[in-house]
Amino acid sequence: MTGAAAGGLAFATSPAQAEYQDVTDVPGFSCDQPQFTCGREVRAADGMVSTVDPIASGVAATILREGGNAVDAAIALQYVLTVTQPHGSGIGGGGFMVIYDADSGEVDIVNSRERASRNAEAEQFLDDDGEEVPFAERIQTGEAMGVPGTVRGLEAACERHGSRPRQRLIRPAIELARNGFTVDAFLAEQIAENTEKFNDAALETFSDDGGTLYEEGDTMTNPDLADTLDRIRREGAEAFYEGEVAADLAAEIARNAREPDRVVDEEDLAEYEVTFDEPVREEWYGYEIVSQPPPSSGGAIVYYILKLFELLGGEAHEIRSPEKYHLLAEAQSLAWADRNEYLGDPEFVEVPLAELLSEEYLQSRADLIEIGSTVYDYENDEESQPGDPLAVASSASTTAPATAMQSGSTTHFSVVDQWGNAVSYTSTIEQFMGSGKVVPGRGFMINNELTDFSAEPEGPNRVEPGKRPLSSMSPSMVLEDGVPVLTAGSPGGIRIITATAHAILHSMVYELDPLDAIVEPSIFKSTLPPVHYEEGVPESARETTSEWGLVWGDEEVQGNVQVIRVADDELIGAADPSRDGQATGFDRAAGGGGDRGRGR
Ligand code: GLU
Repeated sequence: MTGAAAGGLAFATSPAQAEYQDVTDVPGFSCDQPQFTCGREVRAADGMVSTVDPIASGVAATILREGGNAVDAAIALQYVLTVTQPHGSGIGGGGFMVIYDADSGEVDIVNSRERASRNAEAEQFLDDDGEEVPFAERIQTGEAMGVPGTVRGLEAACERHGSRPRQRLIRPAIELARNGFTVDAFLAEQIAENTEKFNDAALETFSDDGGTLYEEGDTMTNPDLADTLDRIRREGAEAFYEGEVAADLAAEIARNAREPDRVVDEEDLAEYEVTFDEPVREEWYGYEIVSQPPPSSGGAIVYYILKLFELLGGEAHEIRSPEKYHLLAEAQSLAWADRNEYLGDPEFVEVPLAELLSEEYLQSRADLIEIGSTVYDYENDEESQPGDPLAVASSASTTAPATAMQSGSTTHFSVVDQWGNAVSYTSTIEQFMGSGKVVPGRGFMINNELTDFSAEPEGPNRVEPGKRPLSSMSPSMVLEDGVPVLTAGSPGGIRIITATAHAILHSMVYELDPLDAIVEPSIFKSTLPPVHYEEGVPESARETTSEWGLVWGDEEVQGNVQVIRVADDELIGAADPSRDGQATGFDRAAGGGGDRGRGR
């Protein structure tokens, strides 16, 4: 290894070669150690971690070094993120963990999505006049808080796939919470921007002993969270879902509720169970796209968009050509219409997934799209409409309003180990800093995930007792001959789907290296105009496609993608430069794996 300067080193000007950070908060780990290589994009032989947080990447890499597998590393990593990135995910939230088991060649999914209370009702987001409670208010109510699934999910993953005891995997998070860690720029920003929704416990959690909010570079401790995690370490998930922690969590939810007897209570917590899902698994350009099925729309819609691109022969067009953007914008537009019409929690809703993703149906959707014109009249604000995958007029069709656009909270991370096991895991508390309410004395933030339900009491994504809200999270893998060659995923509300689809497309069809695939500009369009785009989409392409009928909106960052490419003889990890992420590679033989930014 060519050596990393402690404290970080800027080595290039292009976003694809942004600086990397050494990690000083993790005992026994440093990017200087020969087995590890850290950076926005790194290469290694025996293990790879890509996360939004260098500390979490470092912890996960130490688990790989001591012989833990990808699931062990992912569990330790998620517990660390609870401490170091509490604005994005944590034990107060839920997520989807897609696992490739190299021994069996099977894909398993641990679905720890939050659930509504058994007492929830479809009208819970309407006020006394039947009007929707304004979103900014809704996200802070007890009605928005679902039963968190993360702790049970991690326990289930550990039991089914782990090779290390829970106690070992939680320990790094406990130590970081107790001894302190360095607040990064993004956490500091989220603390400063969310104080309005904080309860007293949150203000206390995110302030130092003198009562000043933590800023970038400060050392933050969270002793209450250390104690909560220590209980889980000793007693397992029961320590979270039953007893004192559960009682305090239920009390805080009730305190914020408009109707306290309709929100998550201790019984809901005690009853929570994860599910083990069959992935969306579909053929694409000779590969397979493998991803999260409903109650996430993510996997299905990532595939839908990518498949339309394939059916339209999109690969014939240059990566920044007007044709490529046009096809992707139109594919997205049709995909969202079907998403909103048909997708919801399959425990409650008849989801016509097989029909929706059938080649025949997708071909019929692709046939609507052509270069030179648009399917709908976006200049006059026309909205794209769903098709009919069942090929019969649906007798019970009710249209769900699109989920509100979210700001890009959540976190995605991936791990691949020396045996070829892989994890693609997207995890969330919904908004940045979730509901803004920390459970007093317990140190963790409660999600506001149930605002992912439609506020209107109709459609496949309406609130129902015990139901899981429709998600966009898209933890994905691309398989070749049944074996992962790429993992990808992102935060970003409904932009999760498009950010993930672009990363896969740019990697596999345009054959870009992972970091280039991430930073290659993506676009986003829902059922309505305009098309949002990232910096780098040429003005000439926007002009040409405007003549064809697309309406362009603002330039904005889409998602925060983490990717691992499993190449023939090496693993390449990349972390999106739009936040502080870092990939960390592991090589058993000393000598390191090489960082592209440092001359390999
Ligand atoms: N709650 C969102 C979902 O499950 C993710 C939140 C976000 O990334 O903005 O789709």
